[in-house]
Amino acid sequence: MTNRPTAMRVWRLVRPGELRLESVDTPEPADGEVLARVSVALTCGTDLKTADRGHARLKVPGPLGHEWAGRVEALGDGVLGFAAGDRIVGTPTAPCGDCAYCLRGAENLCLHLFEHMALGAYGEYVLLPRQVVNRNTFRIPDSVSDVRAAFLEPLACVVHGAGLLKLAGDRTLVFLGDGPMALLFVQLARVRGAGRIAVIGRHSRRLAVARQLGADVAVDANGTDPLEVVKELSDGLGADSVVECVGRPEAWEDAVALARRGGEVLFFGGCERGAAVSFDAERVHYDEISLKGGFHYTPDSVRRAWDLICNGTLTLDPLVTHEMPLAGLPEALELMRRREALKVAIAL
Ligand SMILES: [Zn+2]
Ligand SMILES: [Zn+2]
Repeated sequence: MTNRPTAMRVWRLVRPGELRLESVDTPEPADGEVLARVSVALTCGTDLKTADRGHARLKVPGPLGHEWAGRVEALGDGVLGFAAGDRIVGTPTAPCGDCAYCLRGAENLCLHLFEHMALGAYGEYVLLPRQVVNRNTFRIPDSVSDVRAAFLEPLACVVHGAGLLKLAGDRTLVFLGDGPMALLFVQLARVRGAGRIAVIGRHSRRLAVARQLGADVAVDANGTDPLEVVKELSDGLGADSVVECVGRPEAWEDAVALARRGGEVLFFGGCERGAAVSFDAERVHYDEISLKGGFHYTPDSVRRAWDLICNGTLTLDPLVTHEMPLAGLPEALELMRRREALKVAIAL
């Protein structure tokens, strides 16, 4: 017997543009599953994009919210390593471990990644499927706050993306975009030894945070030509690595223009389903620019991200600009939409 309420509140996306705080049955964890009581959820650009326009990989209608920390409320049979009351954090997905992509080590491309998800962090409880419990869930040490722990998923994506780039040495790295992902990435690039780091954005407050977190240059694209800035930083050559963190076709196209000959571009921001981009083919053939996509995370990048969170290497506080109760989610997303908030902590 439990004294857990039989109904819980959770924000569900009914269709793009329509969010509803609904009362649903509190789930019971089946074998291998964990039910977590959410203590904090962080807003994410992906949630905003999903709420406004749908998502290429997520089901709508469905619950929203995937960055969270909380406590173990109940355990299904056979769960090892966790006990009721433990403070925990987990990612929304985990790979199956035996599809063609998992067997090739590309677990971020797992064919079954989105079949069993821990979604609904904008709600009182989240059910963690067996794969997530087994591979991407951690007990939070006393020294780590819930809000800090809740950075696990976005940071895992950044760790994965950084692994696709050549970062060490005296290289010039340019970020297009000044949102939370870019600001996490800047810090990781700094830790990994990037030479010069520039952030090109459109929001003066975010650009100030970028400087605070380690960018050598942070410029407003509204008043400056990004190409000129990048050339000045790189003896006229262009960036060694460009990281696109906006998720719009125009930004993807701009990113290609900023790389030097032999440089690389990482497309880190996902565009709307069906989006098409175009760029000068000369840049890829004659200039030998490498174009790469960076998507999601693997259990290895999740573990590395968790180490970074626990060992205090990164400065995460400035990325959480507001706090609101569960009922305030629409307002939180509006602050994100207006680019007034970097991330909002939804406290439960
Ligand atoms: Zn996220
Ligand atoms: Zn798989």
